[in-house]
Amino acid sequence: WARTTSGPRSLRGPANQWACSASAAAVEGKQEGTSSREGRTAIIGAGPTGLATAIMLAQRGWRDIHVYDRLSPPPNPDDDNVWSDTAKFYLIGIGGRGQRALKNFGIWDDVDKYCTTVVGRMDWAPGAGEDEGIERIFTDRPYLTKVIARDRLVGVLERIVKEKYAEQVHLHYGNELRTVAWKDKEGKGGCEFEIEEFDVETLSTARPPTSTITITGGERSMMDKGRMKKVNAKLLIGADGAARTLANVMQEESEKSGQGIFKRGFRVVRYVDDNQRIYKTIPLKLPKGWRGDLNYSARTQDGRINIDALPASPNGDYCAVLLLRANDPLAAANTDPKELRALMDKNLPQFSKLIDDEALG
Ligand SMILES: Cc1cc2nc3c(=O)[nH]c(=O)nc-3n(C[C@H](O)[C@H](O)[C@H](O)COP(=O)(O)OP(=O)(O)OC[C@H]3O[C@@H](n4cnc5c(N)ncnc54)[C@H](O)[C@@H]3O)c2cc1C
Repeated sequence: WARTTSGPRSLRGPANQWACSASAAAVEGKQEGTSSREGRTAIIGAGPTGLATAIMLAQRGWRDIHVYDRLSPPPNPDDDNVWSDTAKFYLIGIGGRGQRALKNFGIWDDVDKYCTTVVGRMDWAPGAGEDEGIERIFTDRPYLTKVIARDRLVGVLERIVKEKYAEQVHLHYGNELRTVAWKDKEGKGGCEFEIEEFDVETLSTARPPTSTITITGGERSMMDKGRMKKVNAKLLIGADGAARTLANVMQEESEKSGQGIFKRGFRVVRYVDDNQRIYKTIPLKLPKGWRGDLNYSARTQDGRINIDALPASPNGDYCAVLLLRANDPLAAANTDPKELRALMDKNLPQFSKLIDDEALG
């Protein structure tokens, strides 16, 4: 996945509209934090990382853990109305390390029951003919890749928090981190941060289309203004995905003061993304003869279109991610889907015949 797109992104709305992929970012520097269990711990981001972190801390006996997410709560993992639409949310593969982490927290079985299994790949090299896909079954791994919608994984973790750790972990949705001020130069006194709070009811019914969420900047251009509130925390944990609001604030602070907590400097390194892609999710029904436990992928010779499909259900329902370059005219609003269809028919006919017109639009 890392080779075809440029980094993780967060979304809770349907992904079957064109949406931008975010720039990959890494964080450099060392912070002298506190590991005290006393006082409030705030986690920014209730995605897989934020919720797993909250569960881990709660299991170690921490209390007063608050998790903030700018989006509305995730869908119920058992809601058939949501999950019968197999291409509404993108799927992610959980490899050996992810499975081991969730096993260590004792929650792997809760996640695994919603996963499909991938035992290998079927790839078409650029320019390969319809019948020239190469199948490779993974025999070199001690685990099988498990596949789940990112939002369903989040829904499972949220349910675990609510059922098992409700006294220790408090979830705040529609809460977006804006700024942080550290109490003292050493960072030992914790921090005060500002949260913009939105009405979750409004969020869940009137979510902006995913294509308008500015994922690198964390802005909400389509939303009304929220209420600002100030929160104190002894320990602040950034789990805000590609948005990296917290890391960006830390960098700004470091540039301003360059002392105390930031005296060794703190820098967010953003790699130049020279292959920005946008993607949409597309439902695929596998034809007879195609195995239901493979990761199917192909790309056109000129690199214009990539397709990558994973099993969304054990019944042969697949969800494909179709990627185009960010500036591709085919991805512009109101483009006639016939153009994309013609290109797919010519270059990726094995997939084109599995996709209906509505999904390509
Ligand atoms: C098409 C696609 C395919 C992918 N395939 C894979 C795969 O196969 N395997 C894999 O491991 N990964 C895959 N990924 C990446 C995967 O989505 C991320 O690795 C994973 O979601 C990271 O989890 P996270 O909790 O760190 O961040 P996220 O899932 O991005 O969650 C961050 C959370 O923080 C919240 N947030 C952001 N900013 C703020 C703020 N300022 N205030 C409050 N909340 C905030 C967001 O709303 C979000 O809920 C894929 C991504 C895409 C787009």
